[in-house]
Amino acid sequence: MSTGPTVPTLDLHARLSARARSMNASAIREILKITQQPDVISFAGGLPAPELFPMQEVRDATLAALDRYGPAALQYSTTEGHPPLREWIGAQAGIPAGNVQIVTGSQQGLDLLGKILIDEGDVVLVEAPTYLGALQSFQPYGPRYVQVPTDEEGIDVEALADLLPGLNAKVLYAVPNFQNPTGRTLSAGRRRRLVELTAQHGVLLIEDDPYGALRFTGEPAPSLYSLGLELHGHPDRNHVIYSSSFSKTLVPGLRDAWVQAAAPVIAKLIQAKQGADLHTPTLNQMIVTELVQDVLPRQIERVRQAYGERAGLMLDRIRADFPQGVQYTTPQGGMFLWLTLPEGVDTQALLPRAVERKVAYVPGSPFYALGGGQNTMRLSYSNATPEQITQGIRALGDTLRGALAE
Ligand code: PMP
Repeated sequence: MSTGPTVPTLDLHARLSARARSMNASAIREILKITQQPDVISFAGGLPAPELFPMQEVRDATLAALDRYGPAALQYSTTEGHPPLREWIGAQAGIPAGNVQIVTGSQQGLDLLGKILIDEGDVVLVEAPTYLGALQSFQPYGPRYVQVPTDEEGIDVEALADLLPGLNAKVLYAVPNFQNPTGRTLSAGRRRRLVELTAQHGVLLIEDDPYGALRFTGEPAPSLYSLGLELHGHPDRNHVIYSSSFSKTLVPGLRDAWVQAAAPVIAKLIQAKQGADLHTPTLNQMIVTELVQDVLPRQIERVRQAYGERAGLMLDRIRADFPQGVQYTTPQGGMFLWLTLPEGVDTQALLPRAVERKVAYVPGSPFYALGGGQNTMRLSYSNATPEQITQGIRALGDTLRGALAE
């Protein structure tokens, strides 16, 4: 019992900022709650395979970092990031370390980019569908989304060329490699056109590339960032901003990722990050630095191999067990594939029936900034055993057959 003076009960919701009130719970997080029943085979979450985590190597690297740096490994450090890690990333990309900003997960990079680039009402072009987490990051800054059509080869660049004149778009956000959610890859031919088109129209191009290293089939295509570098001739003139992460190649829990950008963008990212968290955890950056030379390439090889096998099996089982009329993407890497069911099938409404059959997926609609895609769904194969894939796809096939028979 309170013994102090009587005070009014605050309406806390009413005191939230308009920005906070514009945020909404991730549809996926809500869905994952339903799908996380213990006996349900879940293709819903986009989790890396934990049995592949390099446990011993991270243990060794942690001790090595503590020995190498002493208390400095546990001290505050610079906002830009651990210099040797920035050097290493810069060397990989052929740019100075000064064009690299370490961030606490590429999710933070997206939030900070939203903060420094998007004013209320700015036109932000996004793929349809796109990564839901980017929509969540940008939303509080008040973008006006315009969806760019996509097909099997990623962004339809000619449709984009028709959209751009007069649009005064600020940013185009794209995931060109093994996109989350579709698993599609932007074809090599379209990349150059996309970079040139956005440059011509003064549109900043955010290339979000957490999966690029995880190609298990097909030929690698140049990054949009590298094409931008070629076009402009200098990293400080590049209109492409590149974001990548160690989450999918090493481990997600260390929250180590980075942004490559021109000096004026980096300068603002530093200021924005200071306000957000001062710096990415020092020890985590040092651990990753210990690992990049030898462990990272081996780990990438392992993960690629495993995900390639899992994707291959999932596609085989889809071909064997799914009814006619279900379209699927064939990813060349990454963690996801995408199903399109005949018009009129609502994958959100279908989910409880799939869960009854002990299988789960993510309905596709939340991945569309402006709605649509009710007949689509995302499947993740990265965190499933062969048995789970075989059983789960059979159960999903039965669910889909039931829905199509109605
Ligand atoms: N971008 C994309 C396209 C993603 O799929 C993810 C992870 N799901 C992220 C960014 C965020 O990754 P992280 O913060 O772990 O680097």
